[in-house]
Amino acid sequence: MNLKYKRVLLKLSGESLSGKIGHGIDFDTVVKICEPIKKIVDMGCEVAIVVGGGNFWRGRSSGSMDRTRADHMGMLATVINALGVADGLEQVGLDVRVQTAIAMQEVAEPYIRNRAVRHLEKGRVVVFGCGTGNPYFSTDTGAALRGAEIDAEVILKATMVDGVYDSDPKKNPNAKKYDHLTYMEILNQNLQVMDMTAASFCNDRGIPFLVFSIEDPENIVRAVCGENVGTVITK
Ligand code: UDP
Repeated sequence: MNLKYKRVLLKLSGESLSGKIGHGIDFDTVVKICEPIKKIVDMGCEVAIVVGGGNFWRGRSSGSMDRTRADHMGMLATVINALGVADGLEQVGLDVRVQTAIAMQEVAEPYIRNRAVRHLEKGRVVVFGCGTGNPYFSTDTGAALRGAEIDAEVILKATMVDGVYDSDPKKNPNAKKYDHLTYMEILNQNLQVMDMTAASFCNDRGIPFLVFSIEDPENIVRAVCGENVGTVITK
């Protein structure tokens, strides 16, 4: 198999790191996800990763809490995941740097775009924590933003579902899966695949987005080789 994309931004949802446990981090699952990442780096692909935090905390599900504080907690959750993923990547033999949008220099590098690009050029994987660094945003938007900043050719969103459906496949056995969608269709039909800010930003930038299931981690290899392993979203 040959690479289609030379530089990719991989978004790993928090949920994808918790495996069968369903919350927190299941480190065996993390290592299984890191193995195909090693394969694609060895094939010459430059990989940056944005991690979610939903396996620990989501600001929008925090009830009556102050939203900004709840989102700060969510962003800190993404840092726990970023460190876990970095450790998994190192265990499979990769060089890794973690950069956070909220500075915590004793733990990780601060986010510096040019430095992140330099790491990628040297074959290091860069893991971005804290999403955009701002409350009221999501790590999907963080992935879109970082993807644009580092000139990623595609955003690969690894989740627990194998693509975008017209209704919830867990509730509706007749739910239809889309192979291809445009950002405008997502926005107009309010499809729950990414938040509206991310969809609107990606539409603006024209970056393609592939949503696929991480239950088979080899999908990462297939995705960077250009296979439509889920749903492709374009402008
Ligand atoms: N978050 C935030 N700003 C960002 C990214 C994330 O405030 O730019 C917070 C927000 O509370 C969010 C949480 O971090 O709910 C975890 O991120 P997300 O829900 O996107 O994680 P995922 O669902 O992908 O696991």
